[in-house]
Formats: sequence, structure tokens, C-alpha cells
Amino acid sequence: MDKMNFKIDESYLTETLIDLVRINSCNPSLTPGSPGEAQIGAYVARAMESCGLEVHTHELAPSRVNVVGILRGSRSGKARSLMWNAHMDTVGVGGMADPFSGDLRAGKVYGRGSQDMKGSLAAMLAAARALADARIELGGDLLLTAVADEEYASLGTTDIARRYHADAAIVTEPTDLALCRAHRGFIIYKVETYGRAAHGSRYKEGIDAIMRMGRFLGKLDELEADLRQRAPHELVGPPSLHAGLIKGGSEVSIYAALCELHVERRTIPGETLEGATRELQQIIDELARADPTFRARLEVQMWRSPLEIPADSSIVQALEATLTQRLGALPAHSGATFWTDAALLADAGIETAVVGPIGAGLHSAEEWVDVASVVDLAYILADTAVRFCA
Ligand SMILES: [Zn+2]
Repeated sequence: MDKMNFKIDESYLTETLIDLVRINSCNPSLTPGSPGEAQIGAYVARAMESCGLEVHTHELAPSRVNVVGILRGSRSGKARSLMWNAHMDTVGVGGMADPFSGDLRAGKVYGRGSQDMKGSLAAMLAAARALADARIELGGDLLLTAVADEEYASLGTTDIARRYHADAAIVTEPTDLALCRAHRGFIIYKVETYGRAAHGSRYKEGIDAIMRMGRFLGKLDELEADLRQRAPHELVGPPSLHAGLIKGGSEVSIYAALCELHVERRTIPGETLEGATRELQQIIDELARADPTFRARLEVQMWRSPLEIPADSSIVQALEATLTQRLGALPAHSGATFWTDAALLADAGIETAVVGPIGAGLHSAEEWVDVASVVDLAYILADTAVRFCA
């Protein structure tokens, strides 16, 4: 289809975006006492109902909700289905002068969450409304998923992946309208080294856990340099790691009995949890062979997969066609250094790509989104649904 027979209502989209920014939806797991998604979820549910979608609200915890709107296809279950995904929560507002202003100046809407990712949420609502208003009949189902808690533990998309399925998904995290096909994963490790507490003068009794962690860190530094020498992924570069937190000892005059280190390992597509963990365990095993008093323990505290979707997958092909039509040129294929909920949907067997608007200031003191790019995104989403769910 080359002629689009629907129209995005730009003033509805802009008003919706401003309304969304004005609703505080800071994630209470990041900033205790924050409201979470209950209020913004109610707004989104009303907006979905007014476009005639079938709406489901799932309460995940007090004040934490997902809202799902479904535009049923005429051949529901037989033609291809598509999911759009945006998170409703935001990070905190520390250091922001007027975080919930929703001010519109020179084509930009300002405020916490404007780019990450209330612009995308507004684009999804405006796109669904345009399809409904034009009475466009899709073959397969279109699912709008507005989710909780992406900024902390992804309670929202984890629940969506359990309850719903689709043939493909578009996660609308900001990409400056590039077609993002890959991003890194991450693993959080805790490493403990053990010593023996003793008075600082009693060198025959004391075993120093902090000095032993030093040995581990020396080897970790070598591994870090080695990771960056490895063949980079074409879209996300080489793997990396860093030591984020360290703590140990109890008093300056006592041999430290315990030292704790947290390491973050960023993985690239093709790397596994097992492979990355083996590399760290090997360091510990080698140090223990060299000195029997070296004792340490490695624990995986959290991990998330990297994302990669092939260039010839059907959702990438559909997005390439719609981005080209809207932007007048073949879109750049990009990779993101940060992680997104897209990896959870991909892990659930849904082919998932990431496309979102232009803006700046994610997680910082001045955040804005470019309204024209949000309009572009709405056209791209609606047109992709028409092509993909035909
Ligand atoms: Zn985000």
C-alpha cells in the first residue's frame, strides 16, 4: 500500500503528549513515595477506550499497572499480529526546575518523560485513533501495550510477555527515528573475597580480604582490556565491563575478613550468560591455584539478554518500507548501547525492533522531545500496522 488512507490528528497527539508529561509517573522503586503508573494508566485506558479499543488493565502491585488496548483484526488469529510497546514510568526528577510542565516551545515538549517515553505513548494512541477513525480493518490483531517499571525491574513487559503474544513487536524507545536492530545486554555480578580478621599487628593470623580483591581486580582489568580487543558487533561494538561498587573491611587496624565487589558486564549479541560467567570464574580458579589462602565466590545477581533482529526479518522489512515512505530516504540501521524491554519480548519469541522519536536529556535535568518526530512516529506505526497485519 503506497497511499495512506488515514490521517494523524496532530493537535490530539500534541495535547495527549502534554497531558501525559503533566502526570507524574516516577517509578517508586527508584524514588520511594513516587506515584507509579496508576494515574497515568487510567488516562491511557480512557484514551484507548475512546478510540474503541478493547482495554485491559493489569495491576502488578499497588499503584503499578499495565494497560493493554487491542484493535481486533477481522481474521484474528489467522493474519499476522503486531504489538506496540511503551513504558509509562519515568526516572526521578532530581535537579529539574519544572519537571511536569509539558511546556511546548519551538516544536519541542519539555519535561520528565517527554522523550523517555511519553512522546512514543502519545504517538501510539494517536496512531490507533487514526486507524480507528478511518475505519481501517486490519487482518491481524494490533496490541498497544503501555507498561510499568521499565526503568527499574521491567515488571510490566515481563508480565506482558507471559500474557500476550504477537508475531512481531515495535518497542518505541527513542532512536532519533533510526531503525534499531540490536542492543547490549548486561549481567550484574557480586564477587566476595574472604580473609581472616585479626589485630593489625598479628601478621601470622590475619588474612587480608581487600588485598585478595586487589589480585582479582588486577586480572579483571586485563579481561576488560581483552574484551575491547575482541571483534566488535557491527551495530553495538565490543563487549565491556566495569567495577561499579566496592566495600570491605571493618577498621583500619583489623585485617579485613570480607571484601565485596559489584561488576557490571555488558554483553553483545551472540554472548551468553554462561560464557561471560565462565571467564570470571576462571580468574578466581587461577588465583586459588596460585595461593590456597585465596578464597572467593562469584554470584550472578541479575542479567538481561542482548537484542538482535536480522535485517531480513519481516518486521524490519515492513519498518524499512514505512520509514522510507515517511522520511524520504532509507533509514539508518542502528544499535543502542543501553538495554530495553525489547530483549524480553524477543526472548518470548516475538520478533522485535526499536524505533522512536528525536529528543534529548534522557535521565538528565532538561528533557525534551521533538513533536514533528512524534508525528512521524505515529504515521510510521500506523502504516506498519496496515502493512504487517494486512
Ligand atoms: Zn525508556
